[in-house]
Amino acid sequence: MKNILFTIALLISYTSVYSQCNLTLRSNSPSSKLLKGSNSSYINTKLDLERLQLKKVFDVEFRIEYYPGNVAFAGPNCESSSCDGTIGLGVNLLEKLHNQEKEGGVWMILAILSHEAAHIFQYKNNLKFENTVQQEIHADFIAGWYMGKLMEDYKAMYDFSNSSSEAYNKMQDKLESISIFKQNLRMFFGSLGDSNYSSIDHHGNYITRSMAIHKGMKSYTGWAQPINTITGESRDYKKLLITHGKSDASDLIKEYNH
Ligand SMILES: [Zn+2]
Repeated sequence: MKNILFTIALLISYTSVYSQCNLTLRSNSPSSKLLKGSNSSYINTKLDLERLQLKKVFDVEFRIEYYPGNVAFAGPNCESSSCDGTIGLGVNLLEKLHNQEKEGGVWMILAILSHEAAHIFQYKNNLKFENTVQQEIHADFIAGWYMGKLMEDYKAMYDFSNSSSEAYNKMQDKLESISIFKQNLRMFFGSLGDSNYSSIDHHGNYITRSMAIHKGMKSYTGWAQPINTITGESRDYKKLLITHGKSDASDLIKEYNH
């Protein structure tokens, strides 16, 4: 309960300053406003490690640029030809999330990065969308899948089911915290939603965004799991996320986004 109340307080203060993810086609001309990173070397390192992990998982190579303020955006342009795009992150946004709640804040930061990396994945695979909402909800879905993966990896680090009762209890604590992180992410993405249905910047309403991240997280241990747990065969999860992910995004919009 304490955690939920805390999250609500965090979200209220957070959403008042965050400007939506922008899809940008602008070039990466050197900007005087470019920063080296946030004030937290922990966050900078974490983001860079996650960049490498995202590269491996989605076959996308991107650079991260840091800006003042609360922005988050993804563009298909990059300085080098081997790179698929650029992600811009506002350091105020990162620091605010990290300072308010260390562990939960880091999950939120990683979810923002994976949402933006999902846009790079869309660009690289030349995905076409009916409108911005479908593109955004699809990005939320893919970010959810990736967060589902991170949580499963995290869970695996604490798999002490065959150990002492003390270790077992620790594992139970971790499982509980994962369920809280997932709930927080659903609320967080929901809170980023808007109901400006006629705006070109409309990203989907609360319930649509919340359901997109939720369904994405679920798909990681379901139909888009990289290894089929029944047959042991590997799945082309990237292809599944493109095709089924896109139709799931349309279904969610039809069901909730009005
Ligand atoms: Zn976006």
